[in-house]
Amino acid sequence: EVECVSDLEKLQILGSGNGGTVYRVRHKQSSKVYALKVIRGGATDQVRQEIEILRRMDSPNTVRCHAIFEEAFGDISILMEYVEAGSLDVLAKKVGSFSETLVANIAYQSLKGLDYLHSKSIVHRDIKPSNLLVTREMKVKIADFGVSKIITGSENSCNGFVGTCAYMSPEKFNSHGKDFDLFLGDVWSLGLTLMELYIGHYPYVKPGQKAADNPALMWEICLEEPPCMPKDASEDFKDFIECCLQKDWTKRWTVEKLLSHPFIISARQNDFGIGRTIGTKTDNSVLSDLVSVR
Ligand code: ATP
Ligand code: MG
Repeated sequence: EVECVSDLEKLQILGSGNGGTVYRVRHKQSSKVYALKVIRGGATDQVRQEIEILRRMDSPNTVRCHAIFEEAFGDISILMEYVEAGSLDVLAKKVGSFSETLVANIAYQSLKGLDYLHSKSIVHRDIKPSNLLVTREMKVKIADFGVSKIITGSENSCNGFVGTCAYMSPEKFNSHGKDFDLFLGDVWSLGLTLMELYIGHYPYVKPGQKAADNPALMWEICLEEPPCMPKDASEDFKDFIECCLQKDWTKRWTVEKLLSHPFIISARQNDFGIGRTIGTKTDNSVLSDLVSVR
């Protein structure tokens, strides 16, 4: 049992962003390894919401939170399970791109995580490769509830404009406060994320270019056709991505419906990935099995 932050020894920085800094830490007494997210400057309403959501999480496909420490001087530290293989953005950079089989598996697990969140009235609002963590057995865990929200029914969709522009659904840019389904925003972001993992770069830009969070990109997402999958993908995969990347949110599939899409059904039968180990000596050979040969 970790009782306070001073029981922990910081080993390494795992990442840092808008929300704070995440460290790999070791519990001095037990030598157990955890991840610790330190949020400087104390509890804003959004930080309170993040904590409230983490406390409610209990699913194999969402990151588990063990404890929350509030320091007298205002820092908040969130103790989480350490997810060894890290986030999919980093893994994707290492391996280039993922095979369709692996993407199908990631899709299935991410949908299970989102289904769990949505069933608890939680919208994630920031699904992207850096917020999907994987274990060495390729178990996917949704992380970073830094801009997530528990839907109470009284919200105004005006405040939908949060998250990362590059992965935001078109209706969020041009809804003018009109009603839309916040849950379906997560579906768009997941679709774009999965496509990115398969093609090896952010879909709205050419390979090598960085996705800038700029107004030009917003226009493109709103005005252009959604990005197209490469021809070598299976028909099921292409159709699945099309169901996620419907610009008209009323036509976009819900998480529940996507869970019974043929692409996902075959991923469930073909439970590849799971049970395979990455991040060990065999790292490269196993990973090269998993990634595509494009
Ligand atoms: P951003 O603003 O970039 O989204 P953030 O400050 O909100 O980041 P997180 O997304 O929670 O913080 O974590 C940042 C990074 O730290 C992740 O992208 C991931 O690489 C790493 N990380 C976070 N939590 C864990 C964990 N439990 N296990 C392993 N790595 C983690
Ligand atoms: Mg993040």
